[in-house]
Amino acid sequence: METILKTIQTSSAICATLAIVAGLFALNVHSRINPAQAASPQLPMAPELVGTNAQWLNTNGKPLTLNSRRGKVTIIEFFAFQCSNCKANLATYKKWATKWEKQGVEVVAVHTPELPAERDPKNVAAYARENGITFPILIDSSGANWKNWKQQYWPTIYVVGADGRVRYQWQGELEYNNAGGTAQVERQIEAAIADTRKPTKVVKTEDEWQRILPPMTFEVLRHAETENAYSGDLWDNHEAGIYRCAGCGLELFSSTTKFESGTGWPSFYQAINRNAVEEKSDYTMGMERTEVVCSRCGGHLGHVFNDGPRPTGLRYCMNSAALSFQKAQR
Ligand code: FE
Repeated sequence: METILKTIQTSSAICATLAIVAGLFALNVHSRINPAQAASPQLPMAPELVGTNAQWLNTNGKPLTLNSRRGKVTIIEFFAFQCSNCKANLATYKKWATKWEKQGVEVVAVHTPELPAERDPKNVAAYARENGITFPILIDSSGANWKNWKQQYWPTIYVVGADGRVRYQWQGELEYNNAGGTAQVERQIEAAIADTRKPTKVVKTEDEWQRILPPMTFEVLRHAETENAYSGDLWDNHEAGIYRCAGCGLELFSSTTKFESGTGWPSFYQAINRNAVEEKSDYTMGMERTEVVCSRCGGHLGHVFNDGPRPTGLRYCMNSAALSFQKAQR
């Protein structure tokens, strides 16, 4: 988990044994990862939550696993019910528990005791009841989860992405000394939700692609070849329907944005949605062009130029071999 710690600020808004024992002011430690790293596969996997049925509150007696939450964003918050800094964050956790309900976001609390009264699970249940907490709570009396997460401070918040990786960590009171933690964490949650809308990548080896694709499609998608103008079967297709990636099947273009470019290649003025294709700089053939690839399998589709019709002024010049056409149902 240490690898995600990038910046550390200090003030005084966490509960930590060391600080209490030493009689020191507690520290408020904000740790964040570089936003550029947010989509990186290098981020640490969130340790699985461990606990028996009896250790869970608000889950109908069933353990909740992060594995079962794949594809959705999870907010994990470690707390101890007598920790004043944890209590200060409670209203925000309750707000978060419903704010992105439609997007499947869930707040999951892990209660790890610090003081003697916190060791009795009955007291944790009473605290949850009295404070109207309805989101899941894992009573981590043995500290097993605390240890697995290499936890140090109460409270600590983690944003776990749809891929099960820890994207962000906040330690301490969210608004201690106007720290701005609420907005900061919410931005990270929103970014994690936005990432769930991106297509899941399709990854195959060169051999696997070669085995499943027709030769021309393989050459275009995987080696960025270009079919000869007027040679494909879709440049003059005028039927209503959807054009999918011939490699992975992702929907890429609609017939409603197809136009007659006179080039001999199927041409569209926009992709079917913002996440369908990705654009890359391409300096091959002695020209500066913008390559268009499928966002799911990375397959080369063609190029996009600035000489298209309204409303976008763009011309997505695609290879027929990179597309498969699905006629609209009547
Ligand atoms: Fe694809």
